[in-house]
Amino acid sequence: MSFEDYRGVWVFIEEKEGQIAPVSLELLGAGRRLADKRGDELAGILIGDQITALADTVFEYGADTVYTYDSPIFKHYRTETFMKALLACTEKYKPEIILYGATSTGKDLASAVATDLPTGLTADTTILDVEEDTGLLLASRPAFGGNIMATILCKKYRPQMATVRPKVMKALSPEPGRRGKLIEESIPLKEEEVRTKVLEIVRDTVKQVRIDEADIIVAGGKGLGSPSGFQLIHQLADVLGAAVGGSRDVVEAGWIEHHHQVGQTGVTVTPKIYFAIGISGAIQHIVGMQNSGLIIAINKDPNAAIFQACHHGIVGDAFEIVPMLIEQFNHA
Ligand code: FAD
Repeated sequence: MSFEDYRGVWVFIEEKEGQIAPVSLELLGAGRRLADKRGDELAGILIGDQITALADTVFEYGADTVYTYDSPIFKHYRTETFMKALLACTEKYKPEIILYGATSTGKDLASAVATDLPTGLTADTTILDVEEDTGLLLASRPAFGGNIMATILCKKYRPQMATVRPKVMKALSPEPGRRGKLIEESIPLKEEEVRTKVLEIVRDTVKQVRIDEADIIVAGGKGLGSPSGFQLIHQLADVLGAAVGGSRDVVEAGWIEHHHQVGQTGVTVTPKIYFAIGISGAIQHIVGMQNSGLIIAINKDPNAAIFQACHHGIVGDAFEIVPMLIEQFNHA
């Protein structure tokens, strides 16, 4: 493998129902910075059905080039089809770096591509930079329960790849009318050759704010006592227009689904405000929310570990305090 052939910083642009995922815009901002430091180009790769028009947005957020794979076969995300498109594009244009959002789609696709190429992949990155003299990607991520930052370099393989946590990087302000090179690609793939079929999309019946994109999260733990006690969390979240989060113990108890779980084996979140209510503050929970802007904890145990990790703490019974907050915010 000759590394000289590899050039450019690429961002996989995640799209759903005609909308670009916020993390992809954030990554274009980060990618622009890396490309400028390397004296390199920034490209976006868009895969989907009727997505070519979205290329304009990708240019406006900083890309010099956009590669598109626009076909009904890409209507729904499937590992197999997206991976084939990305591999074909990678083989043809040889990017030096590819960034993906650390979303369920981004993580799935990046690991499939890394395995097939094969190359290295740094997962769940929170800091991106390039090494001064070599231009190598420096991808840093919390390790050992958030106690150290590990910086990972991929020296032996290309492209260098990383998934990056949502809401950590900053998107650039869009420049309306900014345009670049649009390269429309295709692969000869027939529906009957694809092993996975999307039979039905089942949507959440309740309209809920996603926790990885929310500005405010109200998270509850075992201290709420029961599924009906946990309803208090939903009520406070409703009043604040917030997303609902939970500890692993409430997920395991079946009070809320797994995609609401915050922490080491759940989602990492960075909202502006995080309420931790009836949550003890185990390290596995803390690593998932410690970078929130403002952390407010409510716990009846004054020695609960959560009070070491919060900005404001209220010692008291959630069943007394949360109804008061709901009342106050309702009148605010
Ligand atoms: P508890 O620890 O039972 O805490 C309940 C708290 O509520 C207590 O502090 C109590 O004082 C308080 N309380 C009780 N009644 C009231 C009341 N009326 N009002 C106010 N406060 C009250 N956990 C996660 O959350 N996310 C993860 O991703 C995760 N991953 C893990 C991975 C591994 C490998 C392991 C080993 C564990 C993981 N855990 C995770 C579990 C974690 O260690 C804790 O067990 C869990 O976070 C505790 O959940 P909790 O705070 O809801 O419950």
